[in-house]
Amino acid sequence: MLLGFKTELDLNNEQRTFAAKHAGTARHAWNWGLWLTQNILDHNPANPSEKLKFPSAIDLHKLLVAMVKPENPWYYETSKSSPQYALRQLREAWDRTFKKKAKPPQFKRKGRSQDSFTLDGTIKILGSNHIQVPKFGVLKTFESLPQVPVKNVTISRQSDKWFISFKIEIEPQSTEKTNLSVGVDLGVKHFATLSDGLVFDVPEEYKKLKAKIAKLQYLNRNKQRGSQAYKDFQKRIAGLHYRLTGIRKNYLHHLTTYLAKTFKVVCIEDLNVKGMLKFGKLAGAVAMLGFYEFRRQLEYKCKLYSSDLQIIGRWEPSSRTCSKCGWKDDELTLKNRVFNCQNCGHSIDRDLNAALNIERIGLSSSSLRLIDVEVPTPTDEVSNKHQSYPMSSFA
Ligand SMILES: [Zn+2]
Repeated sequence: MLLGFKTELDLNNEQRTFAAKHAGTARHAWNWGLWLTQNILDHNPANPSEKLKFPSAIDLHKLLVAMVKPENPWYYETSKSSPQYALRQLREAWDRTFKKKAKPPQFKRKGRSQDSFTLDGTIKILGSNHIQVPKFGVLKTFESLPQVPVKNVTISRQSDKWFISFKIEIEPQSTEKTNLSVGVDLGVKHFATLSDGLVFDVPEEYKKLKAKIAKLQYLNRNKQRGSQAYKDFQKRIAGLHYRLTGIRKNYLHHLTTYLAKTFKVVCIEDLNVKGMLKFGKLAGAVAMLGFYEFRRQLEYKCKLYSSDLQIIGRWEPSSRTCSKCGWKDDELTLKNRVFNCQNCGHSIDRDLNAALNIERIGLSSSSLRLIDVEVPTPTDEVSNKHQSYPMSSFA
């Protein structure tokens, strides 16, 4: 299983300059290769008796080494794989054009298109936050890195931030699952309620930071655009947003790893459309931490840890159905925190009820069901467990 991994680099000024130089070499090689190949394509129809071969990526690189590098000595200051990969990507772009899958490649302008370059050679991940790459030496990342062998890395710039990305070949791990299945209800009040009674809330630190940003923005609403004070303020806000993203990602990583490692079958709702309906405007805890990021992480982690992710359809009335007898309460509103069944008298926390339904519906379509998973029947013990647990217990 091949996974793409991308994370922001924590570069010093010297490294930033060097990265920009590499991106410049890659862009120069691309533009030169494009100029050459365009000329060949123009030449051939006009000179049927003297047709030129359309160069391969290797041809292009040989020509570059012979013709371009000696005239542009700054090429020698950067890794040779940077222009090499640029030409390979150019050739692939032409291939897609010839197959009518894409428009012809375009010239890259400095500062316009996203700058990037690829490095290969000896690449090593050192500790959790460092990676050794050719020419640069050791680079630091903000997030921790997966401990895997890496063949090549692509370094790219988005506005003033630099990112590193690479592919990792991962053998799915078959972890010993302590629990069979779980349903997860994402909600307005709590971020996630599990059908076994565990509740995951938005971290306090996150809420505080978010409130702080809102307050700062309000207090600085009249600052004049372009003034030094305005710039300082923007810089401060950007820094806080960055921290906010870090907390959110970390939190979701803990939660999704816990789910994928603990349960054989993980059932969630497809919130793409339903969420909008359920929460009006996708408000509350789910909006705060992000459903898409949660789902993205959960999808690859379930593959990674060999658990079965069941995403149930968006029209299943998980909140309105009694998890014990199946009776539907069509008048349930968001204000009702407790589900009271008019049919069997069952009284249960609203989110827990939804999570149990999600688990039941998810299991009914899981292939694992027939082998070793029993559909659980809710008991009162389960609902009594409903309380918040600190995330650290799953770290
Ligand atoms: Zn009932």
